[in-house]
Amino acid sequence: MDRRIFGVETEFGISHRPVEGRGLPPDELARYLFRPVVEFGRSSNIFIPNGSRLYLDVGSHPEYASAECADLIDLIANENAGDRIMHDLAVAAEKAIHLDGFSGQIYVLKNNVDSAGNSYGSHENYLIPRTTHFRRLSGILLPFLVTRQIISGAGRVVPATDETEAHFAFSQRADHMWEGISSATTRARPIINTRDEPHSDAATHRRLHVIVGDSNMSTTTALLRYGSTDLVLRMIEAGVPIGDYELENPISAIRHISHDITGHAAVRVRGAEDHTAVQIQRGLLQRAQRFVAEHGAHHEHVETVLELWERALESVETGDHTLIDHDIDWAIKKRLVEEVADARGLEMGHRRLEQVDMAYHDVNPDRGLFHMLRRRGRATDVLDAGAVTEAMITPPATRAALRGQVVSTARAYGAQSTVDWVHHKLTDRPLDAVMLKDPFAVVDSRIDALLDKLGDRSSQLRERTLDERRGSGASLALTDRYALLGEPERDEPPLI
Ligand code: ATP
Ligand code: MG
Ligand code: MG
Repeated sequence: MDRRIFGVETEFGISHRPVEGRGLPPDELARYLFRPVVEFGRSSNIFIPNGSRLYLDVGSHPEYASAECADLIDLIANENAGDRIMHDLAVAAEKAIHLDGFSGQIYVLKNNVDSAGNSYGSHENYLIPRTTHFRRLSGILLPFLVTRQIISGAGRVVPATDETEAHFAFSQRADHMWEGISSATTRARPIINTRDEPHSDAATHRRLHVIVGDSNMSTTTALLRYGSTDLVLRMIEAGVPIGDYELENPISAIRHISHDITGHAAVRVRGAEDHTAVQIQRGLLQRAQRFVAEHGAHHEHVETVLELWERALESVETGDHTLIDHDIDWAIKKRLVEEVADARGLEMGHRRLEQVDMAYHDVNPDRGLFHMLRRRGRATDVLDAGAVTEAMITPPATRAALRGQVVSTARAYGAQSTVDWVHHKLTDRPLDAVMLKDPFAVVDSRIDALLDKLGDRSSQLRERTLDERRGSGASLALTDRYALLGEPERDEPPLI
């Protein structure tokens, strides 16, 4: 496959900390948070002008499913736009609870475990050809995904238990996976989910659903995570032989690896000697390097991905984490945690360090520790300045652009639209529904015809430049701040 569609779904943790007493329960808080969403789309499950989906399930972990993207940088920008939208919703919700007589602050965390031990996900979606043999796919992809945490995990301060001392682990999600492959996402928590909803032509494609990853704060880590997975998929699709890392027990392996920050924990490989995570990753990286040398780079970020992959493995292998402590989430976080521990004379098991871990994932750009590190040059960024704010209102160049057009044009006319990943209609014209199975499509005359039915101004509206759309921000605004562009001035508080 020459090009691929990617999407990532992020579930967020939310909490309310009042000045005193107990906070609002999560479900009530989630309702406050989603109030502007419901006002925007008359539902708590909506598609917004940047092509993505905002969704509140029965639980209390609001979700942002990115628009489908054909480029990794677009994907990361659209994903991070979701963090910013959640932050804006939190700002609005904080105002609303204060008006209702509650005090305190609302926190939205892009992490994967809460203090009660619940886990929530970061689901990756990759479009793959239906001809890919699933058994072969999982035989190669599972060992890759089980070990991928050493190059892209979010890192975690693990408190002491009866059996183990407090320590720093690679991954948040590793302890919450229960199966290698299955069709369930919640109960059984498999690494690869086989539920077959391709959101494209089912005769030719599948949507691979990977639910093992940690949410990343670092855009550089995200690039390595999605880019390395894409390369491994490419080798599988090309039929490159890599069948020699099949794990005897992926679930015990993923936990074992997560809790040994040296990367030397050995896991059982079927029909072979035990391997460490570094050895498995090295083997896959070498094949990827050879593959790219033979076939050429298939997109402009391949060299960056390979360089980061190599450096991350060298860092784990040598124990010199300074090699990646600006680039890879677990190493950025580990350095911060160690600095706080040193400055305050704290042991690893101290509650304060768990709080530092949580605060790293705070999506609030002023308060979140990751964002503070990035502003101080302590975390690299693969996105250009302004890319995230732009991605809040502009869809990527895929089918998402057509969806965005339907949502925002209908809105500008005061009409209701109903869309999902493939279907588009104006609510009061159900017979004119347009189905778009090709996720790469950026133009479609049927969508133009549908929107022309709104009236004469429709095509002009669609041709408005981005600046003009910003100017008329009202038509796109989910909250007051939604169309606000540019980075605000800040007084930097002390980091430690
Ligand atoms: P649930 O939230 O119930 O788990 P889901 O995971 O099936 O549902 P969504 O939350 O709606 O689905 O998210 C779908 C994700 O798949 C989005 O990130 C979207 O961008 C992406 N996507 C859409 N079409 C395709 C496609 N053809 N191939 C790959 N990814 C796609
Ligand atoms: Mg989802
Ligand atoms: Mg999902």
